[in-house]
Amino acid sequence: MTSLAGKGALVTGGGRGIGAAAAEALAVAGARVAVAARNMEQVVETAARLRGLGHEVFAFRCDVTLPLEVKDMALAASEALGQVDILVNNAGTATSNPLSRVSVEEWNHLMAVNATGTFLCTQAVLRGMEGRHWGRVVNVASVAGLEGARYISAYTAAKHAVVGFTRAVAAEVAGSGVTVNAVCPGYVDTPLTRETVNRIMHRADMSREDALEAILLQAGQTRLIEAAEVADKIVELCDPQSEGVNGEAVVIDGKDALA
Ligand code: NAD
Repeated sequence: MTSLAGKGALVTGGGRGIGAAAAEALAVAGARVAVAARNMEQVVETAARLRGLGHEVFAFRCDVTLPLEVKDMALAASEALGQVDILVNNAGTATSNPLSRVSVEEWNHLMAVNATGTFLCTQAVLRGMEGRHWGRVVNVASVAGLEGARYISAYTAAKHAVVGFTRAVAAEVAGSGVTVNAVCPGYVDTPLTRETVNRIMHRADMSREDALEAILLQAGQTRLIEAAEVADKIVELCDPQSEGVNGEAVVIDGKDALA
């Protein structure tokens, strides 16, 4: 079993969904954890729940698109944790629209949260990791970071940027004891996916079951992925034994055949 005892882990967007599951899995593996997100109520709730399970967890408010907030949050997290050894760039958001209806505001927002946020948070902690000759950065991209699909051009472009950034920074840190990888999930059972299903229900006047089936069919998934499955893969990439894995985009696409 992975042991991250003595490590400090920072998870952005850690208030709910994949981020909250990653925070829990990292804490179970022995790390001290800081969760940061724009919604303070959610991160405080996640931290309180995990502290109730006996873990050392801190909560910070931060909009990852704002350089000064990221700088302050990274400093506060380093102080609380001792140091940031692990960064999970999970904060992200998605919309769906045919290209003709994508506004420049929507495009810029998806780029800012998914791509610029990943860049800013990584830049804020990477030098410390390199100086200590150990670090793990895991970027939560998406299968949309590797292939295209209808109606998600802005999200797809932003997640391709995350995967490209992962590969470039991995090359930059190669041999330093730091690794930078991405996980690329298909549809995961989180509030974000529930919001997507709601949008389709209302737009296409479908039942919840039909809307869910439609997105799974389009993605070629046999089922929704659990947030805990993505979290386990993140922990695996953070394992000291995973030092040989650098610059990878690990797909978790739920195309498994159910027994
Ligand atoms: P979610 O909406 O349930 O949670 C997102 C978290 O990010 C929340 O805590 C929110 O407060 C935070 N956040 C959003 N904007 C932020 C900002 N500007 N600054 C700081 N925090 C911010 O989402 P989720 O489904 O758990 O997704 C998490 C990540 O996984 C995202 O990057 C998403 O793109 C990616 N992803 C999700 C799925 C899926 O099917 N749910 C699939 C592939 C990839």
